[in-house]
Amino acid sequence: MALVSIPGQQAKGKVWLVGAGPGDVELLTLKAYRVLKNADAVLYDALVSQDILDLIPQHAEKIAVGKRAGKHSAAQDEINQLLVTKAYTRKNVVRLKGGDPFIFGRGGEELQTLVESDVKFEVVPGITAASGTSAYAGIPLTHRDYAQGVSFITGHCQIESRPMDWQGYANSNNTLVVYMGILNANIISEGLISHGRCPDTPVAIVSKATTSSQQRFIGKLSELSQLAADPALKMPALMIIGEVVQLADSLNWFNPIEKAPSQIHSEITALGL
Ligand code: SAH
Repeated sequence: MALVSIPGQQAKGKVWLVGAGPGDVELLTLKAYRVLKNADAVLYDALVSQDILDLIPQHAEKIAVGKRAGKHSAAQDEINQLLVTKAYTRKNVVRLKGGDPFIFGRGGEELQTLVESDVKFEVVPGITAASGTSAYAGIPLTHRDYAQGVSFITGHCQIESRPMDWQGYANSNNTLVVYMGILNANIISEGLISHGRCPDTPVAIVSKATTSSQQRFIGKLSELSQLAADPALKMPALMIIGEVVQLADSLNWFNPIEKAPSQIHSEITALGL
């Protein structure tokens, strides 16, 4: 789809590509908060938590463009076009994404279309799901005794044009964090085990990490499909695979408790931002 822009004219507005973090409103950066408070229009994804959406000023236009497996959502081309159109008609356009916009967030693709249309932009990073989950589930992603590296991979592993590097991921000194992998849990565990990763490798699936509904499902790599099929598991959920998961019990500090939205707002107001 060709993007419509106005030849000879520069869009007056600017697009802010902002990471909203994994859920807990307090994990929003101060910069993201400031940008959001100045927004005239906000295009947001399904993963952005309600507590964060509640921070958008009343007068700002709110547009849901979220994608969720199986549910209708705006196509990427439509989102790109909408961003460009809004930049011509609004001053501060915020493109708000869950986690970090440059990690499995298509942020790069959206910015490329802004470049093509000569629209100005800035990027505000967010705490990616891997970091939020790791912290709130008590699982350090690296540790001198257990893991010398960490890889963030997508679990959309059925795309033939982009084969998975099972050999590399099977390295037992490396922690593997799998985004969007729940539906492919069996392919992931079989791929890793058949390339030499030990079936007893500890794994954790963490759902709704950093929110009051966070849940952890802990087991072994050979049990990954059973863990993923647990009826109590809610989306979104992330997998952490590797020896570091052994620490999950001793380092578990987060006890999700419901916080009333009014309490969250008064805490933020108290920050005086
Ligand atoms: N840009 C986002 C990732 C988008 S891909 C980021 O940086 O975090 C969407 C995937 O992220 C989900 O399928 C899930 O695997 C993971 N995810 C996002 N938020 C999560 C959360 N609060 N808890 C667990 N997993 C989460």
